[in-house]
Amino acid sequence: MVLVLEPGADRKQIEILQSFLAERDAVVRREIHEGVEIWSIMANPTGLTPQELEARPEVRKVYSIHESYVLASKEGRPGAGPFEVEGVPIGGEALVLAAGPCAVENEEQLESCAAAVKLSGGKLLRGGAFKPRTSPYSFQGLGERALKMLRDAGDRHGLLVVSEVMDREDVSLVGEYADLLQVGSRNMQNFPLLKEVGRRRIPVLLKRGLAATREEFLLAAEYILLGGNDRIVLCERGVRSFDPEQRNILDLASVCLLKEKTHLPVFVDPSHSTGRRDLVAPMARAAVAAGADGLLIEIHPNPAGALSDGPQALLPHDLPLLARDLAAIASVVGRSLEVPP
Ligand code: PEP
Ligand code: MN
Repeated sequence: MVLVLEPGADRKQIEILQSFLAERDAVVRREIHEGVEIWSIMANPTGLTPQELEARPEVRKVYSIHESYVLASKEGRPGAGPFEVEGVPIGGEALVLAAGPCAVENEEQLESCAAAVKLSGGKLLRGGAFKPRTSPYSFQGLGERALKMLRDAGDRHGLLVVSEVMDREDVSLVGEYADLLQVGSRNMQNFPLLKEVGRRRIPVLLKRGLAATREEFLLAAEYILLGGNDRIVLCERGVRSFDPEQRNILDLASVCLLKEKTHLPVFVDPSHSTGRRDLVAPMARAAVAAGADGLLIEIHPNPAGALSDGPQALLPHDLPLLARDLAAIASVVGRSLEVPP
């Protein structure tokens, strides 16, 4: 349940309500949104009812939350919506394009990707420094060296930077360079990591687990929200399927369902969800039509020589062309993407 208090409630009334809830062993998370007290009942062991709470003079409205997550639900956060990261609005009318290589390999590779993102009207440069690879023999990423290159390329082109963090111990390091921390599919239920990024308040791009239900996905976001970090972007990146022709299967209906249930912005990653270059552009266009708030796309100047995920990488010069299509589709669904002429 979420209680919206009377806007004029004074300290005394707040204390009375607090002790009433404490006597009933309720666990309460208190927030102030535009001057109004909003209290979420996170645990209700003695069975307080919405009726008895709404009858109290300090309480204006009680929202019953039907979902297992409170903070990630629309009902639980009346008024929550788009947010900004370093001046870039996310989840608003403007579609956010994020692109870059799977893994940062060298300056030239990154420079050609960053230039393409800028030319496409993109706002975020992606690039892995710590790579979650299935095989321990595969390229694992260049670590801090990659983060430095990413930050420099982002700054040169006026782009925000997003990079994956796999380990709690690396949150500070990645956060020193990146504007958003990516929590990858394989770590969607790494609860100590979720708690840590929740505490740090650095914006997070949270990818759906390989076989996670929507509820598990939103509960993972709930961990981060509970720590006090409100700036989370959810990213649909495909789920496991039985058909080896595609790397994963893109669950586009989930974009619509998520947007019904949560106030958090939803991006789509057409690269990992298909694993195939020929499917990236059509799935990106479909994602915008389905109402995605942004896209996360892998590009590489030499996909054949890429150290990871070459088969799904678009060429940098493909990106502005795709961005023009996305801009046209965006306008049909009430969104926009400004692509430089
Ligand atoms: C990535 O974005 O590079 C990545 C590894 O993604 P995912 O966690 O979705 O597999
Ligand atoms: Mn990748």
